[in-house]
Amino acid sequence: MKFKSIPGAKDILPAESHRWQHVEQTFRELSHRYNFREIRTPVFEQTELFARGIGELTDIVGKEMYTFRDRSDNSLTLKPEMTAAVVRAYLQHNLEQQQPVTKMYYLAPMFRQERPQKGRLRQFHQFGLEIIGSPHPEADAEIIVMTAEYYSLLGITNVELKINSVGCQECRPAYKDKLKEFLSPHLTELSQDSQRRFDANPLRILDSKDERDSRLTADAPLQKDHLCTECSDHFSRLQEILTETRVLYTVDGRIVRGLDYYTKTAFEFISSALGSQDALSGGGRYDLLAKELGGSNVPAVGVAGGIERLLLVLDAENLFTGNEVAPVVYLAAADNESRTWLYGVTQMLRKSGIPSDTDLMNRSLKAQMREASRQNVRFTIIAGSDERNRNEVVLKDMESGDQSPVAVDKIVDIINQKQSEN
Ligand code: AMP
Repeated sequence: MKFKSIPGAKDILPAESHRWQHVEQTFRELSHRYNFREIRTPVFEQTELFARGIGELTDIVGKEMYTFRDRSDNSLTLKPEMTAAVVRAYLQHNLEQQQPVTKMYYLAPMFRQERPQKGRLRQFHQFGLEIIGSPHPEADAEIIVMTAEYYSLLGITNVELKINSVGCQECRPAYKDKLKEFLSPHLTELSQDSQRRFDANPLRILDSKDERDSRLTADAPLQKDHLCTECSDHFSRLQEILTETRVLYTVDGRIVRGLDYYTKTAFEFISSALGSQDALSGGGRYDLLAKELGGSNVPAVGVAGGIERLLLVLDAENLFTGNEVAPVVYLAAADNESRTWLYGVTQMLRKSGIPSDTDLMNRSLKAQMREASRQNVRFTIIAGSDERNRNEVVLKDMESGDQSPVAVDKIVDIINQKQSEN
């Protein structure tokens, strides 16, 4: 075969899509219970939006974006994350005029040119929540509490929540200086990546996966110990709410997130079932983003989590119990003349809400019966010319093996009744 999908961009085939539907449906229902409404934005945006909104010096903007020029020479980028696009939409459509606090959720594909490996793809999918308009720790808590409940609803217990505060424009500059002062004697011993980050984004050195970096930063000062009063109160209040709602967490001063616009709360949910790519989701407060994108000062907080990683955890922990939804009825024609008539019966069942399938291959009755078993249906309906002449079918219950003739206008009632009995 000549064509293959791009490495790191996976097909989700029919046999696995029910697993996706399960996690997506659970997320949608939960979002509605928390009164979040869905936002969908285009797959591509002006490159400048992400360059500004994520930060030129981040890995995403520096080396991972799928950026291209269209025929009018505009620079466009496939979205590598959703927050900048959501804030762009919020500002563009003046959503703050409709309500003081806007709560939105999304489920969408993201694109980053990373080296593909387990749990790291080039097209991956995220669920996410954003609350725009509230500066208060109650909003941060709402995001974290709902994410925790989502994992719990899916049966995942082996998940750890780590929270931190990365300060604000008031307290971060002084802290950055302290951190740099601490790191500068060791600058040449740090990893290449960390050396590059030293000037512009030294906080990122703290969450480096490089062993040397971890050793050298073991005693580094942490922002959480150098917060201004406002950030410190905010962080304490968030912890009080999490404790009150019985969401377990640990404070980890090394959760810094890769993006420049984060302020105050930063958090990650991690799972030991994931190996090296252990982040199930991450988020935080991004009070500086709207201004950066040319809007007014709008406080906001959000989370984004990978769906592929979620599915990996569900698999690793054997938590996926749902089956693919099989049709309830398979209709098999005993002869060719009955096929068209039986197709009419199939349509009647479908219109009555009973998932049904029939032969599209002109197969023999025996082959159709084999197909019915393969599809694992609850009932098979068989009809030949005798049944057709009497306007009835033979209904076979595949569980008990019983079969009996049934008048066409009684089929729906009988099937519904039998199904409600189990
Ligand atoms: P981020 O926007 O980088 O904070 O990512 C949020 C979440 O999206 C992570 O915790 C992962 O679960 C997921 N994620 C990020 N990048 C990838 C990727 N390349 N492949 C699969 N999932 C990813």
